[in-house]
Amino acid sequence: MKCDPTLYRAAPPSLAVKPRLIRHLFLPPLVILLMIGLGYVGFWISEHNGIRTLSENGQRQLELHARAVESEISKYTYLPSLLELESSVSELLADPSPEHRQTVNQYLEGLNRRSRSRAIYVMDTTGRVLATSNWRDVDSYLGEDLSFRAYYQNAVRGQPGRFYGIGSTNGEPGYYLAHGLEEQGKIIGVAVVKVRLEALEERWQRARLEAFVSDENGIIILSSDPARRLKSVRPLSDDTKERLARSLQYYWFPLNELEPLARERLAEGVEKLTFPANTELVSDEQAISYLSQTRPLSDTPWNFTLLTPLQDLRREAINQGILVAVAFALVAFLLIAWNERRKVIATRLAAREALQEANSQLERRITERTADLRASNERLKGQIRERRQAEETLRRAQDELVQAGKLAAIGQMSTSIAHELNQPLAALRTLSGNTVRFLERGALDTASANLKTINELIDRMGRITASLRSFARRGDDQGQASLDKAVDAALQILNARIEPLPLQLHRDFIEQTLQIDQTRLEQILVNLIGNALDAMQAQPAPQLWLEGEFSDGKYRLRVRDNGHGIDAEARKHLFEPFFTTKPGEQGLGLGLTLSASLAAATGGSLGVEHPASGGTAFVLSLPLASPTQAEPI
Ligand code: ADP
Repeated sequence: MKCDPTLYRAAPPSLAVKPRLIRHLFLPPLVILLMIGLGYVGFWISEHNGIRTLSENGQRQLELHARAVESEISKYTYLPSLLELESSVSELLADPSPEHRQTVNQYLEGLNRRSRSRAIYVMDTTGRVLATSNWRDVDSYLGEDLSFRAYYQNAVRGQPGRFYGIGSTNGEPGYYLAHGLEEQGKIIGVAVVKVRLEALEERWQRARLEAFVSDENGIIILSSDPARRLKSVRPLSDDTKERLARSLQYYWFPLNELEPLARERLAEGVEKLTFPANTELVSDEQAISYLSQTRPLSDTPWNFTLLTPLQDLRREAINQGILVAVAFALVAFLLIAWNERRKVIATRLAAREALQEANSQLERRITERTADLRASNERLKGQIRERRQAEETLRRAQDELVQAGKLAAIGQMSTSIAHELNQPLAALRTLSGNTVRFLERGALDTASANLKTINELIDRMGRITASLRSFARRGDDQGQASLDKAVDAALQILNARIEPLPLQLHRDFIEQTLQIDQTRLEQILVNLIGNALDAMQAQPAPQLWLEGEFSDGKYRLRVRDNGHGIDAEARKHLFEPFFTTKPGEQGLGLGLTLSASLAAATGGSLGVEHPASGGTAFVLSLPLASPTQAEPI
């Protein structure tokens, strides 16, 4: 069954698919852009959160390590002032004799050993070293003039001398704590303790801590990374550089600025610094970023700075960013897939709805058509019924017609039959009278001959009546007929009309058993031969041909005469009932109609030919009887 394509409705507007091209062009770049954007946001948030966490942790670390530095420094704070209590020191300052010097030298040596400081020495108010713990060493300070040192200058003025510097004698860095030794409110000398703070550096290195301490000039004096040592954390003015060079505080070191690649101030004392990578430590990175947290150290003008590397954090943030991007890609993919699936489902639903609609329309149409068909079927049935009734009526009329034809034929024939029977009856009367007389005379032979003739006449009369009876009887279609017998019977019936004629009869056929009732065949032949006789009435030399031949499983018998023939107008109406050219009561116009219908009823036919030589030929074509039924009835 073909479905009407218009039955499929278009998808509802909400489901209408946008142009695919636009989606395919814009969606992937959009997703990629969003991926990058969200990835960056993820990275940024992660980095900021990480920095905040790091900075909180760093703050604690800063506090811890700054305290450690402070305690390391403060350990020695009071050491120089202790010398004030030592009488040998005051004696030496009062009288710098070699004995006194030696005593103080030994005292300082012992003190230095116990306090684990680098050196302890005592200067007079001119800045000359009178006694020192390293008096035995080659590079001993003994006798040196250190009046240019800032710590001395501070201490001699009664201020605490705090100073980080590089020793002018041996170039060794150290932390100098100086104290003006007072006696009766007057400064008589300066005691100095030099401390090495490298232990702090080593501790930081061991703890893998990146930290440094910058002094009041912004110069890094302690650093876990030796490369940063003696660099300035802020730009130094030329004056400052000049002044520092003169004081030899940092010996001859150039005091380059520690220049980070990038510097970002995050909060008070918190910065993000990026330094060029130390190629020995980190070979695969160009730069390394630190979270720098700075806090001033109490009791000194110094600052402690803790550097927390950010590369782990950065890596973590990158990972987070990638994770966010991947998660977004996944979600986007899932959303796209879900959307596609939703569309497919919606399209399917729409298609199914359209199909259902088409189906129901189809069913509606089928129901309508079925109803139409049923109605037309009913109409047809009615028509068939009517036709059957008409057929029945026709058949009945036909039967009646046949019967009427027979009756008419009987009526027609009654004259000749009466004539036929009257003749022998008259002869019988004469013969029987004669026979009685011959018997009375004793002429037995003549009487016997007369009786014989009487018998023959009675036989003939019997035959006539028998033919008549069989002609009038309604026969059925199922019979079989002998052609010979039928021709004989017909001629017998028509004998009364044939006898007076000088008829020349040509029997040119062979005996056949035909598929037709014997009586009906006889009836047909009586009609045809009778008509021929009528047509030849005016013919002085009447001739009748009965010619047979096989054709298409049938046998054709041509009944031809040399009568007056049939004119053109009459030819058109020959087989119409009640068409007759015969005057008065002679013709009923049923003979040919009945004969044709009888022939047709057996599957045969009756036709007419008009030979050029004149006369008329009627051709009776009848089916041959099947061999099994070939026996005569
Ligand atoms: P009817 O013999 O009663 O007239 P038919 O049906 O037998 O009726 O014949 C119809 C007409 O056909 C006849 O009236 C006659 O004019 C014509 N006809 C039939 N047979 C012949 C024939 N052999 N020769 C000439 N005319 C014929």
